[in-house]
Amino acid sequence: MKKTFLLSSLLVTAFCTAGHAQSQDVISKNGYKLTVINQDPAFDKAEISKLEETFFVVYPKLEKEYNKKTLKDVTFLIDTAYGGVAETGGGVVKFSSKYMTKHPKDIDVVTHEVMHIVQGYGDGAGPGWLTEGIADYARNKYGVDNAGAHWALPEFKATQNYDNAYRVTARFLVWVEKNYKKDLVKTFDKQLRDHTFTDDNWKKETGKTVDELWKAYAANPAI
Ligand SMILES: [Zn+2]
Repeated sequence: MKKTFLLSSLLVTAFCTAGHAQSQDVISKNGYKLTVINQDPAFDKAEISKLEETFFVVYPKLEKEYNKKTLKDVTFLIDTAYGGVAETGGGVVKFSSKYMTKHPKDIDVVTHEVMHIVQGYGDGAGPGWLTEGIADYARNKYGVDNAGAHWALPEFKATQNYDNAYRVTARFLVWVEKNYKKDLVKTFDKQLRDHTFTDDNWKKETGKTVDELWKAYAANPAI
């Protein structure tokens, strides 16, 4: 599997930009093109392979489940200057080289970030907390090694709220699907992409407002 994967690498080049050694990998496989630009010469090459492999495992599944029109051409940038963990925009996922070097097992950062490409909601589609909650919901469902990164949905706490985003929202979504509406995330994801999502859609899809759902969740949060 790994050997085949490496052989499919079409182009490996190294060049210099503005005094920084930078390497670039372009992998075309199964109709997708992944370009990996690495600004950090010390970055572990095995980690780059893991990032690439995770993309080719996870992205087709997310495409199939959520958005068949998602971009086929994606770029990963291993960024030496970026201070966060990772962020995505316009088909480019920026990874902090510092963070990934420190947390090499957190490979499903890929899953969360490429879900943002699949989401492709554009501006003004809905609340940001829901977008981030759906991305972590996808990481929870499709991640290749969440356990290895000690990443899991957190237990419910009374201090939480549905709009905390990320894992808190993701766990709430899992609960709503279990108790009220199977495939709610798939439904909301499409509505967000179509810009037909409003707060009223919670009630339309589940019979309850988001506040009513959260109250019921807080009373019995088992998933
Ligand atoms: Zn995100």
